[in-house]
Amino acid sequence: MTATLINNTRDLEEASASEVIAWAKETYSDKLVLASSFQDCVLIDLVINIAPDVEVVFIDTGMHFKETLEYVETIRSRYDLRLVTLQVDESASDYPCGINGCCNVRKVLPFDRFLEKSGSRAWISGIKRVDTDERADVPVVGWDERRGIVKVNPIASWSEEDVSSYKELRNLIEHPLAAKGYGSIGCAPTTRPIEPGENPRAGRWSGQDKTECGLHLP
Ligand code: SF4
Repeated sequence: MTATLINNTRDLEEASASEVIAWAKETYSDKLVLASSFQDCVLIDLVINIAPDVEVVFIDTGMHFKETLEYVETIRSRYDLRLVTLQVDESASDYPCGINGCCNVRKVLPFDRFLEKSGSRAWISGIKRVDTDERADVPVVGWDERRGIVKVNPIASWSEEDVSSYKELRNLIEHPLAAKGYGSIGCAPTTRPIEPGENPRAGRWSGQDKTECGLHLP
């Protein structure tokens, strides 16, 4: 299946991640951006192989592990990324970490402003249906109601095993904390290593009801 043959979302549900990315690039050209948390570089590797000039957005919440910031630089250099680093809202210090308001001013608002200013028509995210209950039904291509643009989730149907296999196949550089038991890696104060058998996202906002930062909520 080539990108030109993929002409509706049902086709896209059946397409491979690379085919979805090729379709998105062909459809949205330079109005397509990739958002990455840099917990790994699976999606970056997939996207850059097809669209090497795509802008990659990293939201620097000011709360990241130093290892994450080092990893961002490692991956930027390895892939020669067109990296855009977003800074937090000035009001961020008014919000204690761990609450929705904190994620809102440190992640959601800077990202919303960037998308609006850049005139982006579509963004690519690395969310998967197996991540959380809230993500169980995410489509490969959907409408981001909040931002009024298209959201593309090329690896929505992937399992954790698919991710591991791809990393091995492509010999990808791992985040330094992966070897220390961290599954999903977000801000330092609200991320812990996981126990064997736990869902990778169990280490995020552990012990709280919160499971999402808000970027992926309607
Ligand atoms: S993940 Fe935690 S520290 Fe980071 S912005 Fe959200 S609440 Fe704040």
